[in-house]
Amino acid sequence: MRPTGQLHLGNYFGALKNWIQLQYQYECYFFVADIHALTTGYDDTTDLESNVWSMVIDWLAAGLNPAASTMFIQSRVPEHSELHLLLSMVTPLGWLERVPTYKDQQEQLKHKDLATYGFLGYPLLQSADILLYKAARVPVGEDQVAHVEITREVARRFNHVFGHERDFEAKVEKAIKSLGSRNGTRYKELRRLYQEQGDEAAIEQARTLLDGNVRLTVADRERLIGYLEGTGRSILVEPEVLLTATPKVPGLDGRKMSKSYGNTIGLREDPDVVAKKLKTMQTDPARVRRTDPGNPDKCPVWDLHKLYSDAQTQAWVQAGCRSASIGCLDCKQRLAEPMLAEIGAMRERGREFEENRDLVRGIIAEGCEKAREVARQTLEDVHQAMGMNY
Ligand code: SF4
Repeated sequence: MRPTGQLHLGNYFGALKNWIQLQYQYECYFFVADIHALTTGYDDTTDLESNVWSMVIDWLAAGLNPAASTMFIQSRVPEHSELHLLLSMVTPLGWLERVPTYKDQQEQLKHKDLATYGFLGYPLLQSADILLYKAARVPVGEDQVAHVEITREVARRFNHVFGHERDFEAKVEKAIKSLGSRNGTRYKELRRLYQEQGDEAAIEQARTLLDGNVRLTVADRERLIGYLEGTGRSILVEPEVLLTATPKVPGLDGRKMSKSYGNTIGLREDPDVVAKKLKTMQTDPARVRRTDPGNPDKCPVWDLHKLYSDAQTQAWVQAGCRSASIGCLDCKQRLAEPMLAEIGAMRERGREFEENRDLVRGIIAEGCEKAREVARQTLEDVHQAMGMNY
């Protein structure tokens, strides 16, 4: 998650709430994407540091648990930058230029300088972020699926370029030695096929070839196939998408809740301020007077009820709004109760962390160290595969 300042309810329901559940189901890595923040905002880093820490505190306040997941800051694990650089050697420029968000964002953020290498390369930095941890799954919404797809392509390409041959020769040489010299010709034939195609099709062909080799004993044949199958080593793991439902979280004006629209409710905002904000929130425009019936489906307050209220309250809103037996202020009041209770609890937990910055720094330092251990191991594999292990 990029450190963009205090998190709001859109961030919470869009990602963070889901993370809090995932941390108990998977081995999770969550990081503050501070280098990513630079790709669209390199020219003003005044608030970067305070944004980083305020986001970490938001996470902790919302319920991310350092005992259940690993939390760290991207730039404090320099392996992200190195893997990004190494991957950039095998990534065709066209792949990056074709990422849908590349052109979209340039259109949308016209006031920013996005004609930089850093901005073009940010999907590849994301790929490095994922591949560094050999992640099996990446929790994303629909709009991020293309980024995971490019990560899969990059991993596949890297594995294709660096993952096969060295290993193949070493392993098959051992296999041949163990089989004896009589199979030298077969070995050469297999190696040629493998080098030409370097994939599962080659193993299939090798199988057929071996099937026709009457001189091999069954045990020899199985042994050789075993070696061949173990050869197509994947250095980098192609991740799967873990699609997460992203509920509609409208802001105060009814548009999507977003910092750039100035329509947000903060995760740890003062409850009095939140209560005031709710009173001004947009409702179904058909309810001009208290006696005018409305339609919750046309009202952003209803979208928030769906996130906060129980079935009974939701039924009360539906019936009351359509029959005009409740007013919008009553309706908002009922929404305010669970919302303010949750915000209040997060605010309280957040305050404890705000007052104990050493604890927060300690959590992140430990997370960075844990992440680095995994990251170092992957880079060692990458160096080895690239012939750079010196
Ligand atoms: Fe919206 Fe509730 Fe008013 Fe209906 S009663 S328009 S759902 S705020």
